[in-house]
Amino acid sequence: MALENIPAYKCIPGTGFVVDGFRESYAGPNVKGYFLSHAHADHYAGLSETWDNGVIYCSEQTARLIQHMDQLRIKKDLVRPLPMDTPVTIDGVEVTLVDANHCPGAVQFLFQLPDGRKYIHCGDMRFGEHLMGNEHLQRFVGADGVFLDTTYCKAKHQFPPQDEAVEHVASTMERLMSEEVNLRRLYIIQTYGIGKERVFIEVARRCKCKLYCSDRKRTVMECLDMPGINKDDIFTSNPRETPVHIVVWGFLGEAFPFFKPNFTKMEEYGKDMGADEVIGWVPTGWTYENKRNMFPVKKKGHCSIHLVPYSEHSSYNELQTYVKFLRPHEARS
Ligand SMILES: [Zn+2]
Repeated sequence: MALENIPAYKCIPGTGFVVDGFRESYAGPNVKGYFLSHAHADHYAGLSETWDNGVIYCSEQTARLIQHMDQLRIKKDLVRPLPMDTPVTIDGVEVTLVDANHCPGAVQFLFQLPDGRKYIHCGDMRFGEHLMGNEHLQRFVGADGVFLDTTYCKAKHQFPPQDEAVEHVASTMERLMSEEVNLRRLYIIQTYGIGKERVFIEVARRCKCKLYCSDRKRTVMECLDMPGINKDDIFTSNPRETPVHIVVWGFLGEAFPFFKPNFTKMEEYGKDMGADEVIGWVPTGWTYENKRNMFPVKKKGHCSIHLVPYSEHSSYNELQTYVKFLRPHEARS
């Protein structure tokens, strides 16, 4: 039966499954499974600790996050973590989770119906060559439908590979630190609740220092898998222990639809920390739209902000490559 009142791009045809749809008005007896692609607020909208409409299927990392993040705290018996790359059967439908190369815990859902129909729900994703080697995704080449993350579905949205952006932040910060003579610089990295962790790890390694983050952020970090990394070596809860601070999204300025810096707030924070100069970093895909300077810097007084084209969504060219690879009968977004 069709799921009424729910946008079609959240419903898997021929099933009672809803992906990233938790609004109260969506709930009803026809919904046979709620799937969450990843723990970003625009995807879990509608979830809160009072959630009681049914079991939520997601990856193991996402399951930990939605049980422990302050604003969610979903009851344990309503969270069903599923393993990666392992087909499982839910309500007669084979479901497989594969990496979305987005934030930690983010997955794409592969649904194979009893009648053979196949659907891919990508959630948010950043295409990477390695995805084409995934045997489960290969089974879904020629699928009946693909629900695609089209955040950057315009040709103007081009940005470099993530490695290049991470390298740029770490090497620039390392150079700036080596220049400090009779000068105290404070480095501030602005991020969402989760995502961009690769930037933190590389900065800690190259600059040989820890990164300060709030207790709230640390709780989130504890939910994430970081193989080979001891989180105590990377993070500290003492802001005086390190010149590199992680701050919440919006701290350095609004990023959308174009970046508007908040130099006043930066300056005040720098003064509190006893810094002579404050250098901010905003990693986001939104900063780069075919501008000639790929790594722009905005300056005012003792403050400067580096806009870094680090995206966890596919660029326009990457989307094209992915669709060409999957050759679906239908692409929805
Ligand atoms: Zn996301």
